[in-house]
Amino acid sequence: MIPKETIDKIFDTARIDEVVGEFVTLKKRGVNMLGLCPFHNEKTPSFTVSPAKGIYKCFGCGKGGNSVNFIMDHEQLTYPEALKYLAKKYNIEIEEEEQTPEQVIQQNERESLFVVCSFAQKHFTDNLHNTDEGKSIGLSYFKERGFRNDIIEKFQLGYSPDKWTKFTDAAIAAGYKTEYLVKAGLTIHSEKQELTTQYFDRFSARVIFPVHNITGRVIAFGGRTLKTDKKVAKYINSPETDIYHKSNVLYGMFFAKKSIIAEENCYLVEGYTDVISLHQSGIENVVASSGTSLTVEQIRQIHRYTKNITILYDGDNAGIKASFRGIDLILEEGMNVKVLLFPDGEDPDSFSKKVGHEELKTFIKQNSNDFITFKTNLLYSEAKNDPIRKAELIKDIVESVAVIPEAIVRSVYIKECSRIMQIEEQTLLNELNKIRRKKFDDKRKKGAEEESVSDEIDILTEAPQQLINIDDCEYQERDVIRLLLNYGHLEVMVDGEDEEGKKTPMTMRTADLIVQELKNDSILFDNSAYQVIFNEIADSIEKVVPLPENYFINHNDKTISATAVDLISFPHSLSENWEKHGILVQTEDMILKKSLLNAVYSLKVKKLSKMIDESQRQLKEAQSQEDVLILLQQQQQLNEAKKLFANLLGRVMLK
Ligand SMILES: [Zn+2]
Repeated sequence: MIPKETIDKIFDTARIDEVVGEFVTLKKRGVNMLGLCPFHNEKTPSFTVSPAKGIYKCFGCGKGGNSVNFIMDHEQLTYPEALKYLAKKYNIEIEEEEQTPEQVIQQNERESLFVVCSFAQKHFTDNLHNTDEGKSIGLSYFKERGFRNDIIEKFQLGYSPDKWTKFTDAAIAAGYKTEYLVKAGLTIHSEKQELTTQYFDRFSARVIFPVHNITGRVIAFGGRTLKTDKKVAKYINSPETDIYHKSNVLYGMFFAKKSIIAEENCYLVEGYTDVISLHQSGIENVVASSGTSLTVEQIRQIHRYTKNITILYDGDNAGIKASFRGIDLILEEGMNVKVLLFPDGEDPDSFSKKVGHEELKTFIKQNSNDFITFKTNLLYSEAKNDPIRKAELIKDIVESVAVIPEAIVRSVYIKECSRIMQIEEQTLLNELNKIRRKKFDDKRKKGAEEESVSDEIDILTEAPQQLINIDDCEYQERDVIRLLLNYGHLEVMVDGEDEEGKKTPMTMRTADLIVQELKNDSILFDNSAYQVIFNEIADSIEKVVPLPENYFINHNDKTISATAVDLISFPHSLSENWEKHGILVQTEDMILKKSLLNAVYSLKVKKLSKMIDESQRQLKEAQSQEDVLILLQQQQQLNEAKKLFANLLGRVMLK
């Protein structure tokens, strides 16, 4: 845990323009700074930084936040990691809770494994480039595959010679303990007493592919034999260790992450060499699951960077079909899946060599198909004339659709499948509802947390939900909070009374005016983030303790800071140019009073309408004469209040 005072200090010190400026070239544009967005591809800059407000916002892709958010997003760090990163940059000392002796030992142990793996990688790479055997066997193999030098170096490829103990001997000579060599999976310990040595290299007579974690440290290795002996396994990999959990690691992720974010897509291939070949062809947003079937952890790792996965297939139909279940896992995470089939007998590696870089890129772009459509087409072509298989096929496809979390996406797919298979949409919907109901029941039986009522209704109706609910007050609530956050400190003229009770103009802070207006009528916000912001502002007014600058932008609660960033507007850079040409631009602060009365009255009218509706609903269900009378009276009051504010609103609009 990082102490609160230290967090505040980091927020105060880390200037947004300096933090962003380390990664993006920013040019001054009026009071803001402008650059090319690091989160999406763009040619004209729409990435805006406001040093005064301490925030950034991209008007192209919508990303925005404060200094800590930027580091989290750009470097893919967690909140505490990002804080530590900034603390280091600004030499702010972090006193963390002390670790227990056990934690210290564990951390040192992990660190030792990293160090050993790093030594091994350098050793193997050195063998490849600087020994005769390495050059004549290992390096010439990579060259034969067409790998360029820069790519061989980038992926830190290596070679381990045809000797039993070369690596282990070198590591011991360099001072590493055998204990850690074994724990890192690099050395194998044999119990056989008759042997002259008990320690052997795991990887001998193989070319070596180091596996990096997400921050680029080597955590494991894959070794490929170059012998044609059928008894020798083609690939061997590091075993599970304290720093290497196969199911959490995707080969190539460290080299791919930036490009995945920029391209908003991640290609998934089968092996090490596919990743490397595609990189060499200029396609860098690619990772491999390295032979194992895709795990949920791996999928979530990709999801941190993008919602889109494209699977590149080189197998035959049987192999492709075997992978379908794994793909349902991706759909279940709410991600979009596309698939691409290479021409017969080709894999990403061979195909990229055959057609060249540009053609490969075009081929992938043009031939990627949506997964559900792809699956439907593939299975349908096989089952078309066989009624029994066709029935199985429907169930199979609908099962894939059923795992997709969003109802709208499901309904789009049902339409598409109905078109391809020429089956009534309703038939598919019935099947879909059956499967989703079963899933729901299973979940409940398992004692899993109750799903929300809305999800249950969703199962029954399965119709696209209305996107915007006209009953809700989101728009009006949002406008009031937006004005509070942006202009709360400015003053407006209002009608006041002097000591003798005579009407006289006086100034009032916008925040005071809004808070007073809403409190008078006990208005509550439906959106809880808005309510928190409103309460904290009202509190500070009551206690006469002003909130620090950028208080909400740097709020501890992530939902609050995200809401604040979203609502805070950038000063218009445009107006400067316009003024130069003598054109007067009416900005919001010039018409502030009108804007804020408009917002406050609109919200009140909306809330009152909702209360009237609710009262009418109750009236229909009223049991006694007495209840009816009370409700009617209430409605009359509400209607009068609504009329009053509607009138005021009308007057504001006419001014
Ligand atoms: Zn952007």
